[in-house]
Amino acid sequence: MPDYPKILVPPPGPKARAVVERDEAWTASCYIKEYPLVVARGQGVMVEDVDGNRYLDFMAGIAVCSTGYGHPEVVAAVKDAADRFLHICGSDFYYEGMAALCERLARIAPGPSRKRVFLTNSGTEATEGAIKLARYATRRTAIIAFRGAFHGRSTGAVSLTSSKARQHAGFGPLLPDVHHIPFAYRYRCQWCGDKPACTRGCLTEALERDLFARHLDPHDVAAVFVEPIQGEGGYVVPPPGWLSDLRAICDRYGILLVADEVQSGVGRTGKMWACDHEGVEPDILLTAKGLGSGMPIGAIIAKESVNTWESGSHGSTFGGNPVCCAAALATLDLVEGGLMANAVAMGERLQAGVRRLADKHRCIGDVRGVGLMVGVEFVKDRATREPAPDIVEQLVQGAFHQGLLLLGAGKSTLRLAPPLVVGSDDIDIALAMIDARLSDIA
Ligand code: PLP
Repeated sequence: MPDYPKILVPPPGPKARAVVERDEAWTASCYIKEYPLVVARGQGVMVEDVDGNRYLDFMAGIAVCSTGYGHPEVVAAVKDAADRFLHICGSDFYYEGMAALCERLARIAPGPSRKRVFLTNSGTEATEGAIKLARYATRRTAIIAFRGAFHGRSTGAVSLTSSKARQHAGFGPLLPDVHHIPFAYRYRCQWCGDKPACTRGCLTEALERDLFARHLDPHDVAAVFVEPIQGEGGYVVPPPGWLSDLRAICDRYGILLVADEVQSGVGRTGKMWACDHEGVEPDILLTAKGLGSGMPIGAIIAKESVNTWESGSHGSTFGGNPVCCAAALATLDLVEGGLMANAVAMGERLQAGVRRLADKHRCIGDVRGVGLMVGVEFVKDRATREPAPDIVEQLVQGAFHQGLLLLGAGKSTLRLAPPLVVGSDDIDIALAMIDARLSDIA
């Protein structure tokens, strides 16, 4: 059995408290800080704090540490690249890592069309660039996004984000000509209700019969931005065929489909991209988070036909940094070399276990997910489906004190997104801890 979780000192211990105090004195007031975890090191799915407490991580630094902490192959690639040169600026000069990563991403992106790749520092920068590229390529201005979406926090990206009102409050005016429609959230759908199959009301009613018929000419729309599985919105998985139907609507009006796979991509769902489960080829695919195993790198992967922007029209000083490119290439080797398969097997074990918990704990209203992207939605009452954010909060805080790192998403959903190296013992330990904690709370 693993030597974690192991709580030696109730967190935050004395060393952690000192860091928290210093941090609170000097860091910007906008940070959230979920709980007082003060990290000293990590290995695999284990995170150790500065007081020697060991935690089992089921949130992977918000779905980032895909290969776990300190994977030897990623660390070796980073050290080797760092030994050679830290920076030269990929927007202006050449190096092998950048060419290799762009080729690799272009080749593994969904669908047969030839692609070209722009490297970024983050998911937000990928969204921001994709907004510009979509407008540039189509010479149209309007953008459609979904309620509950999270695409980042820069002024353009946050205009597409529709996750929490406080992420917009005080920052306006935001980008004009951005329109939000409901997402395919089966558990809370106003059209499908409890009907056995999805009726596509959000696409036919909200998009075509309302938005396109009354407010917005579809021929003015540059792009629809969609998370194939909504992340921050609550790990919401659209019904089968929904993404293909969205693709068909985009094709009908010459609208670009931008798949934001910042959270769902790089093997987390058991395939390289969540779009691959549906056989959908987006015009632009965005990735970041797990791509560099924690090193800051993202990408805009666009069809050659969309990649119309002229030399000098866009760029980035740090985007595609050589050390980050090396981390991403090593990560992709590992993801393709076994971690994607592990995400399938461990995802099945995790979902089966969570469904057993749902049989026992009536506060669990819905269980959904693909691979190691699993959402557990909590409700006050299964009949009314009234959200129960307090249960998620108590669960997350209590688990932290017992050595399990969890995170919420959406209004009242627990997201389970361990590193892709997670093993069956880890899954069983996490499930047992969640079970015990729910018994305490209820
Ligand atoms: N897009 C999605 C789907 C995300 O989940 C996130 C971050 O959570 C972003 C974009 C923004 O990425 P970043 O925080 O790297 O800027």
